[in-house]
Amino acid sequence: MSTIGPEDPRTLPRFAGSATFGRLPRRDQVDHCDVAILGVPFDSGATFRTGTRFGPIGVRAGSRLLRGYNLAQDVMPFADQQVADAGDVGCNPFDIAEALEQIRGAAEEQLAKSEHLLAIGGDHTITLPLLRAVTKKFGPVGLVHFDAHLDTWDTYFGVATTHGTTFRRASEEGLLDRSRLVHIGIRGPLFTKQDMVDDAGFGFETLTSTDVAGTPPFAIAERVKRRVGDAPVFVSVDIDVLDPAFAPGTGTPEPGGLSTRELLALLRGLKGINIVAADHVEVSPPFDHAEITAIAAASVVYELVSLMAARHSP
Ligand code: MN
Ligand code: MN
Repeated sequence: MSTIGPEDPRTLPRFAGSATFGRLPRRDQVDHCDVAILGVPFDSGATFRTGTRFGPIGVRAGSRLLRGYNLAQDVMPFADQQVADAGDVGCNPFDIAEALEQIRGAAEEQLAKSEHLLAIGGDHTITLPLLRAVTKKFGPVGLVHFDAHLDTWDTYFGVATTHGTTFRRASEEGLLDRSRLVHIGIRGPLFTKQDMVDDAGFGFETLTSTDVAGTPPFAIAERVKRRVGDAPVFVSVDIDVLDPAFAPGTGTPEPGGLSTRELLALLRGLKGINIVAADHVEVSPPFDHAEITAIAAASVVYELVSLMAARHSP
């Protein structure tokens, strides 16, 4: 099946043209869609800095730099499959419960007419309604979670749906396959020693940023692939998995993180996993400098779309 790709950077400068992700067609410009890219500008679940409501705009701007052929994965992510930009969810910034329903509804709508969903946040709260929509289509999923933080805490100020509680809620709701969960890049201080005990109780295997630094990327990737197997997987990337030197524009920066090169290598090493949906969260453009974070994020999204393409390509 032929696909409609991005605007050609060799004939239309990359600083011109559409403001869609990667200068791809809009979802309403294509009949068939393998991967729908959905912006989720919601940051009312953040516990520290806000500003990720501008994440979709920032990451789309950073994505202007992308080109068509992914050498590392040997795929053409925007030609081997149809990818389109589905615009943004209109989230209520004052009412978390209503916003979550709006996000779930929009994700379900996209998944009804596209095979895969890739969401750009927004803070990490958005992953909960995304998982509700994804599991309705695919059943409970394995999870590869890149983050400095566990995001399995219980409540903040008595509120259960925040960017730090997403995966506890998802586990309680039965959205996750407890035998196929892994965190990568965890570091920094926790609230109490019990945090890791609770987290392991939800089924997570944890690879800290120190584990990543001391192990070749392919070996980490092999370990993750063994953990998640061949059943449906959701990949969630919180950009604060990167060191603040590589991603200053985020809500909860944590020193001692991965380099952009390490993260990209890990993602490329996951080629072959059954990735059914993904998200990229926590880019806060007001705290960014020289688009360092937004450009890194766009490259991460490119690798995620490429992982989806790898399942379609010969
Ligand atoms: Mn997070
Ligand atoms: Mn985080």
